[in-house]
Amino acid sequence: ASYRRIAETEPAVKAFITLDEENARAAAAQLDKVLHEGGERGLLFGLPAGIKDNIVTDKLTTTCASQFLSNYDPIYDATVMKKLKAAQSVTIGKLNMDEFAMGGSTENSSYAVTTNPWNKERVPGGSSGGSAAAVAAGQVYFSLGSDTGGSIRQPAAYCGVVGLKPTYGLVSRFGLVAFASSLDQIGPVTKNVEDSVYVLQAIAGHDPQDSTSANVAIPDYTAALTGDVKGLRIGVPKEYLGEGIDPKVKEAVMDALRVYESMGAVWEEVSMPHTEYAVACYYLLASSEASSNLARFDGVRYGIRAENPDNLIDMYRKSRSEGFGPEVKRRIMLGTYALSSGYYDAYYLKAQKVRTLIKQDFDQVFEKFDVIIGPTAPTTAFKLGTQVEDPLTMYLNDICTIPVNLAGVPAISVPCGLADGLPVGLQIIGKAFDETTVLRAAYAYE
Ligand code: GLN
Repeated sequence: ASYRRIAETEPAVKAFITLDEENARAAAAQLDKVLHEGGERGLLFGLPAGIKDNIVTDKLTTTCASQFLSNYDPIYDATVMKKLKAAQSVTIGKLNMDEFAMGGSTENSSYAVTTNPWNKERVPGGSSGGSAAAVAAGQVYFSLGSDTGGSIRQPAAYCGVVGLKPTYGLVSRFGLVAFASSLDQIGPVTKNVEDSVYVLQAIAGHDPQDSTSANVAIPDYTAALTGDVKGLRIGVPKEYLGEGIDPKVKEAVMDALRVYESMGAVWEEVSMPHTEYAVACYYLLASSEASSNLARFDGVRYGIRAENPDNLIDMYRKSRSEGFGPEVKRRIMLGTYALSSGYYDAYYLKAQKVRTLIKQDFDQVFEKFDVIIGPTAPTTAFKLGTQVEDPLTMYLNDICTIPVNLAGVPAISVPCGLADGLPVGLQIIGKAFDETTVLRAAYAYE
């Protein structure tokens, strides 16, 4: 059914970089046996899944939407892939994204332009645009994305689906191609909150192969499926609803808050004064980490190698010049500059300090409130081609999602109505490792 749906919708949507039909059918045939002959069934038994193409999959090409990795067939599975297999989900293929997860529209992919299933002149968001579009188009039951500054939540918002960024450290990053290691987190994109609960249950948990993985007990997330938010205390940051936010998006968020009120929750306006520095802080830190992480793509260890170099340095230079697209180069240059001697204190170290202030904004609000609610993104999905030449405008789309990564806390985007026929996302942010409250608030609203 999944491949049939892909055949119908993929010519317009273009969510996938690689389809893995033969192996998927073989895996499904195995599960069919269990169905008819008996045997244990995993939590995600038989559910077709799409995987963002920066999560490594054993023997299945993993490109990160980069020409650099056009020939990269990993020899192992990411921990999340092992967990999905253990839960008996079936991998349908690898999904389009912005190259190395850098971007907010999936237009930085060097493979294809993914369109928004709601309107094919609009972007699906990014960087996990393929992950959101595939779920919205009904091609897969769920997908995995990665979120460094909003890349699960923002495309989920634009495509009218549910996207969860778990607490930093809850889901293993082993086998996620690193963009900014102190911010990256894998999470589910699903049609509804209940599905998000089950996928999170399957992929969360401590992993000794990821040194930043948290050793915490994983609760039973189905405890979130109560529909009850009586007495829930909601903080609404005025900075998330101020200048630059489309009035129709704001109206949809206010409507959602009225729904919460009617269910017995209480909300109050709060201030998170360092929000205005979050975008600048993030782009310094994320680019710095990226410039270091992407040093491994040297033409020797992974992916392509340029032909006929004059010498070793020329081989590095040519391989990297040919392999990386413009946005990736921009980030590497920005990051290398920010980390260079003489500038480190003024940029990188300063940004680290600002990061702490942003985290303290969250700590303060969470002393009095259970969740923070606002929009996921300032606007609905914008038109293809309108921002890709203008990186600064593109970066500002992340204003509501980036602070969450800097603080390391969990957040979900759930659909909250339409503005001019396009989906609006409601963002619900929680305390570190309190995914249960985030999911409970999301489920009750949905
Ligand atoms: N749009 C942001 C960026 O370009 C976030 C990307 C992400 O979360 N991977 O860095």
